[in-house]
Amino acid sequence: MLGAYAEQVLPKINKVLSVQEKVELPNDNGDSITGFVDLVADIKGHGVVILDNKTSAMEYAMDSVVMSPQLSLYLHILEEKYNTRKAGFIVLRKQIVKNRKKICSKCGHDGSGARHKTCDNVVDDVRCHGEWTETIDPKVNIQFIVDEIPERTEEIVLENMDNANQAIKNGVFTRNFTACSNTFGGDCVYKSLCFKDSMVNLCNAKERK
Ligand SMILES: [Zn+2]
Repeated sequence: MLGAYAEQVLPKINKVLSVQEKVELPNDNGDSITGFVDLVADIKGHGVVILDNKTSAMEYAMDSVVMSPQLSLYLHILEEKYNTRKAGFIVLRKQIVKNRKKICSKCGHDGSGARHKTCDNVVDDVRCHGEWTETIDPKVNIQFIVDEIPERTEEIVLENMDNANQAIKNGVFTRNFTACSNTFGGDCVYKSLCFKDSMVNLCNAKERK
């Protein structure tokens, strides 16, 4: 995957402006959201882009950038510093394409993709029957999706954050059911508490005033 990144992504970069840059967005409760931006770089044909590296089994939709709350938030924080409204995902697809090759050891015939046990090449009316030499040429597919973050996306993401902050301030914690089994690729830490009323792996925190 690193090889594929070097081969497919690095040539697109004119200049690296920052890696793993810490960003913070304070709210009016005295808390702040913290994140680390994987890469800010001048990208050929795009200019400065705020980028996030992903690995994924699934292909990312072409509109994934314009609808990303994470990238909208990063852009909101870094827009002035880098004078850009462009953000993007670099998606390393987990499924490795093997590219199997079958070449006849006797006559050199290319039998890739066919299912013959031995070489099916016919030379002077006689089937070759040579043994296959099998090799693979693995390939990692990388999606590079860059878009402008629409003002509207930024607006609704920030609005949602304000609403969530307001709710937290009032002690209201609305359950986000889409995240129960999908929190950083695993279960939400509160899953047992919600579904089984069990405090397993949890402890009571001190009251905050
Ligand atoms: Zn052959």
